[in-house]
Amino acid sequence: MTIASDPLARQAQAFAQGAKLGEAYLQSLSERAVNADTAQLPALDIPLPQHGQRANDVLSLMQDAGGPGTGATAAGRYFGYVIGGALPAASGARALLSAWDQCANADTGPSVMQMEQTAVRWIIDLLNLPAETEGAFTTGATMANMTLLATARDTLLARLGHPRGKGLLSAPALRVIASAEIHATVLKSLRLIGLGSDDIERVPTDDQGRMCADKLPKLDASCIVLAQAGNVCTGAFDPIGEIAEACQAAGAWLHVDGAFGLWARAVPELSDALTGLEKADSWVVDAHKTLNAPYDSGLALCRHPEEMRASMAIGAAYLPPTDPSPADLTPEFSRAARGAETYAALLSLGRDGLNDMIMGFHSKATRLAAALRNEGFSVPHQVHFNQVFVTLPDTPDLCATITAEVQASGEAWFGAAAWQSQNGFRLSVSNWATTEMDIDRLVAAIAKAREAVLTSKAVA
Ligand SMILES: *Cc1c(COP(=O)(O)O)cnc(C)c1O
Repeated sequence: MTIASDPLARQAQAFAQGAKLGEAYLQSLSERAVNADTAQLPALDIPLPQHGQRANDVLSLMQDAGGPGTGATAAGRYFGYVIGGALPAASGARALLSAWDQCANADTGPSVMQMEQTAVRWIIDLLNLPAETEGAFTTGATMANMTLLATARDTLLARLGHPRGKGLLSAPALRVIASAEIHATVLKSLRLIGLGSDDIERVPTDDQGRMCADKLPKLDASCIVLAQAGNVCTGAFDPIGEIAEACQAAGAWLHVDGAFGLWARAVPELSDALTGLEKADSWVVDAHKTLNAPYDSGLALCRHPEEMRASMAIGAAYLPPTDPSPADLTPEFSRAARGAETYAALLSLGRDGLNDMIMGFHSKATRLAAALRNEGFSVPHQVHFNQVFVTLPDTPDLCATITAEVQASGEAWFGAAAWQSQNGFRLSVSNWATTEMDIDRLVAAIAKAREAVLTSKAVA
């Protein structure tokens, strides 16, 4: 049978071509400018041709015009947001999974479901969560937060005598209590589930960005309390144990957004800050951030899986499932079996490798903060985890120009940010591929950009 007449041989050939191009891309990345070169985007924005092109030609166009237009987030000098890279085994697993093209469902993909479930079990164990906890993968923390906030909403309303299915229009009021520094995406999750973002009771934070547990309002059984494991500017962890005790005493639901920071719980040297985490009702963590699984991989974890199922399942919501299905625990119905990539990531690291990777983020962030302080910058917080907020106390407004200068240089990438009314920039050490040399290059690039900005100001 020739390649032309065998459809799957054609797919296999295109698959090999994609892998070959991906290999070349990865090998070029360390030397490349970190910022995306957008000059060739018009070559992609073409009219849909009448006749289709050969798969190889499609892939070549994507590589030639699209490759330069990617931010080099996979390599070690990208410090924006909390992006992370992709561990080799996880990245390879994605390639393999794309050949399998499995929908995450026990009927169609028993083996990928097994990998997902095993990965969830490993993570529950690594995070030392209660034995009754269950979880499922979502596209990211935004959807995982939404899943669990909907579950919290339905559960509290049911406890107040308003059963699921009756909707919000006739429901008793719920209260949402959150840190003044809650992540912006959580506001969206709240809006999507009909709780709105304007009525949140905001709890003040301390000088590290942690919610002040002693400033919680009086709680009751209508309260959803949102705590954070990992402030996106400072990496700090809310005092979850204390907050949990107040919630338990009042019958409130405690939800923890730990998109990148929950992984600290898996590391003995860092887990003290998360004492009492196990007392919460639900947790969110991203595999695509700190764990360095490829996008999209968030995880929704809940100690009341029957409530999650009651809110999310399509079929007979209250019956225990015979075939566990992720569609019974999250909003999505059809989705990729992305949990298998997290399985690959964890299996390739083992407990020691995970510990070393996360401690490596922390020690490099610590090195970075020390070097920048040494250069005369201010890091107005302790290095709690992997995030570093940087400012210039006397000239904070220079920070945006310095940021733009570094971005344009291609040496490194990070974004401007504001924290507690100070303008500055934010650095995230969250890529497995980042070396100490990358940290030193970053510091040198920032120092050089400041010189350039000061010189051009002096000239002007
Ligand atoms: C990134 C982040 C989110 C949103 O996560 P996505 O995976 O991008 O949807 C939510 N909360 C915190 C604290 C985050 O860092």
